[in-house]
Amino acid sequence: MSGPSGAGKDTLVEGLKARHERLLYSVSATTRAPRPGERDGIDYFFLERAEFEKRLKTGGFLESREYNGHLYGTPRSFIDETLRAGYDVVSKPEVNGALAMQSQFPGAVLIFIVPDKFSYLRSRLEARRTETNEHIAARLEIAHDEFTFVRRFDYLVINEEAQPQQAVDDLEAIVRSERYRIHRVPDTRLKELEDS
Ligand code: 5GP
Repeated sequence: MSGPSGAGKDTLVEGLKARHERLLYSVSATTRAPRPGERDGIDYFFLERAEFEKRLKTGGFLESREYNGHLYGTPRSFIDETLRAGYDVVSKPEVNGALAMQSQFPGAVLIFIVPDKFSYLRSRLEARRTETNEHIAARLEIAHDEFTFVRRFDYLVINEEAQPQQAVDDLEAIVRSERYRIHRVPDTRLKELEDS
C-alpha cells in the first residue's frame, strides 16, 4: 500500500490486520528518528545510517529508497519466511519501493491510498505536529510526484475523511477477491479438486 504521507495508511493497515489472521505487516527499517509514540521493532526498525548501509550491502533489503533525506527499506528475510509459511504480507513503501517489490514478486498487488481531497494532506500533516513547515512542504511536493505513478498501481482506495472503516472495507474486498485469482491457485489444488 502506497500513497502520500498523511493519507492514513497506518490506520488502514491496522484496520485490515485486525480483520485477517493470516495477514502480517512487514516492519520496515529507517534511518529517520522515531516520532513520539513510535516503537522500535513495531512501527519501524530505527537504524543508524551506518548500520542500514551495512545491511544494504549484504543484501538484507528487498528494496530500499531515500525519502526526504532518510533511508527506508524492506527487510528481505521476514517477507521470504512469511510468504513461505503461507501468510499474506502487507507493507507500505513509497511508490518506487512498491514498484520494485512488484518486479520481484509479480503476484504482489499494488494499492494506492489517497484522501478524498488532496488539500486534507496538509491539514493532517500539520495536525500531527511532528514536522517543520519545511518538511511538510517537501512531503506535499513528494505526494504530487508520487501521484504521477498512480496508473502503475492495481487499485485506488479513497480514504474518506473520518470514514476509515469504509476504506478498510474496500481493502478487505481487494484481499478477498485477490485470493480467488486463478493464478494463485496451485496446480496441485486444481488436480485434487478434479480427482475428488
Ligand atoms: P514516514 O517517515 O512518514 O514514516 O515514511 C515516509 C515514506 O517512506 C512513506 O511514503 C512510507 O510509505 C515510505 N516507506 C516506509 N517504509 C518504507 C520501505 O520499507 N521502503 C520504501 N521504499 N518506502 C518506505
